[in-house]
Amino acid sequence: MRSLQLRADLLYVIVLGPGFGESILVRVPPASWLVVDSFRRQADAAVPTLQWLAHFNVQEAAVAVTHPHLDHVEGLPEVLRQVRSGPLGCSARVVADLVPPADAEAIYREGAKRAALMAVRDRWEAEPARKWELVAGSTQSIGDAQLTVLYPTEDALERPHASPNRLASPFWIEWHSFRALLGSDLDHAGWVEIAPGSPALRSHHVYKVAHHGSKSNQHHEVVTGNPPRAWAVTPWMRGGHVLPRLEDDEGIDRLLEDNSEGAVTCLPLDARRRQAVWRTRAQALAELRGEDILGSFAREDPTPAEQEGGWMALGFDRDGLLQHRQEGPSAVVITRNSPAMKKKPRRKTKDH
Ligand SMILES: [Zn+2]
Repeated sequence: MRSLQLRADLLYVIVLGPGFGESILVRVPPASWLVVDSFRRQADAAVPTLQWLAHFNVQEAAVAVTHPHLDHVEGLPEVLRQVRSGPLGCSARVVADLVPPADAEAIYREGAKRAALMAVRDRWEAEPARKWELVAGSTQSIGDAQLTVLYPTEDALERPHASPNRLASPFWIEWHSFRALLGSDLDHAGWVEIAPGSPALRSHHVYKVAHHGSKSNQHHEVVTGNPPRAWAVTPWMRGGHVLPRLEDDEGIDRLLEDNSEGAVTCLPLDARRRQAVWRTRAQALAELRGEDILGSFAREDPTPAEQEGGWMALGFDRDGLLQHRQEGPSAVVITRNSPAMKKKPRRKTKDH
């Protein structure tokens, strides 16, 4: 983090993801900020979003909670103590659904989520001018950049939903000729509603990959973007489920169809053992039995501290050209090693 010097003229997308949890910072020149989501680092309970904001002395920013999952909301109350002004975005339905937990176990389980949503509700009540309802089509100025909320639609908000990912809010950012798509964790059904009516979505310069690179959440009309573009994935792991997967036909494989290189901020982290699920390229390949797509590891055998330094910063000029790229010590660049040999004919699937 301390090694990152922001160039004054570039728009930066900084993706934080040290193993479990995701947050994105966008700096629009000269000094306007967007903060998307927040999380707590598992090893020491620190809130990396907060550390980065303090490092850049950010006290005013647009802050948005894309959906109430633990890996996207933990630590938000601390972030809101640092960021004292600027729009505060969340789905009004998510805030309205805040009900007292049923029992002690629910309090334990839901505690961090509740604390985050209550912090939003309290700010909305105390400072109504900051209230920013995340609903499809709503816009927000971040300096001279324009953010558009892509989801949920009013219709979607009316329907009952099982998972917060069903109502997650991806963002579209325009700044001069630069375009960014921040995919949040929106699930496939949501992309099906968005993508067919928005062909321009595939023309972007950077994509924060939806839902940790999961296969089902990569909509064909979004991920087959115009190359070249940069993409970044944050990992996720819970109860033996690991994202991203690297095998054939999984999300990363799809992303590589049009773009031969991207990055994962860090490999998925086993919190109990405080180490990556796969610590080396050889382990990953042996475990996954996938095709040989892993590229360079920033560290071949990262220490826990390095492992938790999962971030990637991408700086773009007004034309959308990537002018500055820097990664944390645990980032893994992913490439298709032999594009000519490995490139497969495009599958004609309508539903992904
Ligand atoms: Zn997530």
